[in-house]
Amino acid sequence: MIREVSLNDISDGRTYTENDMVKADTAGCEGCHKCCTGMGCSIVLDPYDVWQIKNGLGKSFQELLNDGSIELNMVDGLILPNLKMGEDERCAFLNEEGRCSIHSLRPGICRIFPLGRIYENGDYRYFLQKDQCVKENRAKIKLKKWIDIGNISENRRFINEWHSFIKMVGEKNINLRNSGRGESINDIAMYVLNEFFVSELITEEQSKVVDEGLFYMIIMNKIDKASKVIDTLG
Ligand code: SF4
Ligand code: SF4
Repeated sequence: MIREVSLNDISDGRTYTENDMVKADTAGCEGCHKCCTGMGCSIVLDPYDVWQIKNGLGKSFQELLNDGSIELNMVDGLILPNLKMGEDERCAFLNEEGRCSIHSLRPGICRIFPLGRIYENGDYRYFLQKDQCVKENRAKIKLKKWIDIGNISENRRFINEWHSFIKMVGEKNINLRNSGRGESINDIAMYVLNEFFVSELITEEQSKVVDEGLFYMIIMNKIDKASKVIDTLG
């Protein structure tokens, strides 16, 4: 979700990259699962998150919707999936022991918590969110280690591309609405939902080798193609 906020309002004003040491290490959270509850629809998923979960659990996008793990909401003029908070406002993936049942597949927002991302000039840095994690005296840890994701430089490239794409679509939607051509907005939202989430990005055969490089290559091409398609719409 793209928000226009002042960094000083939501953090200590410092920003970080993956090679910095940051006070984020919650030492396994020791029985706490506060940030896995009551999150509303704020844990928005990107195509990498959904691909990981679909692949890891062997479920289709529709099956994840049907079993109540995820839901769809309108975000910045797009229909995007987010983790669904179920009974007692708990994330559907939080198990009875209060642990994440998909720890190795958890979405990017969960991986970086208690940090967030701030975007500027086509790139992003991380910031430590103020008053979000209840664990006191967190230890310092290298951010790269905390995030613990396969190919972090490819992932960063993808996140930047995806963010720029979402922003471009948001601006396109504003222009369409202002020029009285708002009927195209729903078509764009459905196109993005189908292209990036509902359809299988990688065939079942290709998935057997679970090749992240292949995923990033396919998704980057898709973003490029979708940007051109959307540019011609309306
Ligand atoms: S609030 Fe902090 S300590 Fe509690 S589960 Fe979240 S990250 Fe862990
Ligand atoms: S996916 Fe895991 S880490 Fe993320 S909110 Fe759900 S239970 Fe917590």
